[in-house]
Amino acid sequence: MLGLSTCAGQQSRQRRSRLTSLLVPLVASLVACAGSPQADFAPKGLEAPANDQVLASNPVWETAGTSVKGRPIRVLTLGQGRRKVLYIGGIHGDEPEGAYATAALPGEFLAAGLSEAVTLTVVEDANPDGRAMGTRGNANHVDLNRNFPAKNFDGTVRESGQTPLNQPESRAVHNVIEKVRPDLVIAMHSWDGRQFVNFDGPARAIAERFSATSGLPVAESTSFSATPGSLGSYLGRDRGLPLITIELLKGSDPERNWELIRDALIEAIAGYGP
Ligand SMILES: [Zn+2]
Repeated sequence: MLGLSTCAGQQSRQRRSRLTSLLVPLVASLVACAGSPQADFAPKGLEAPANDQVLASNPVWETAGTSVKGRPIRVLTLGQGRRKVLYIGGIHGDEPEGAYATAALPGEFLAAGLSEAVTLTVVEDANPDGRAMGTRGNANHVDLNRNFPAKNFDGTVRESGQTPLNQPESRAVHNVIEKVRPDLVIAMHSWDGRQFVNFDGPARAIAERFSATSGLPVAESTSFSATPGSLGSYLGRDRGLPLITIELLKGSDPERNWELIRDALIEAIAGYGP
């Protein structure tokens, strides 16, 4: 454990007050700029002298690739620990409910003191064109979460793309995965009518812990229709990597969602001890 269980509420409240000055302008900027090709939200907030850890880490957003329309796919690496966690803030453009959490996560990660134990890689948004247009797919109408080289990839379905990784956005995410070699992948989505956490690969225990802390129920993959070519199929089932998918309630308040999942997210990123 990383001290998140005892006094967790107190620590969280302290973290919250310390981070208020960091996160409010950060998220206000995010909300104002979401969808704009020139959106430049998180780095400004992270440059603010919120605390020593933020200053010391001096995080810099990098570009992992560009979308069909030329928008950057931005990636932030925080910490230098042995445990590698990859967080993907969104891949379906019409599911922006996790955007606030994505903007708030870097500050929370640093405030939680995880930099020595964990390297956290944040893909801000894998589908910036879709986000700008409010569409599930990218500018080529491909569902990027069906375009990964899973064994069950289905090239006969137009929305999957004709061949795996034939879209620049999925290639960029794939490159990040190959570079990071994550121990855990966390993907943000939203769902019509309910919210839950889902998992692929050896991540049942992680999903159950996430559920216990956040209150989001665990939904088994077997309860959904097949997802050929999805990140879960590719990383979880084919490559045996633990992956949890957080499905927030579609249309729900992004800031409240962050309050809901914050502690569970930090716990999952930290890992649960030996
Ligand atoms: Zn989705």
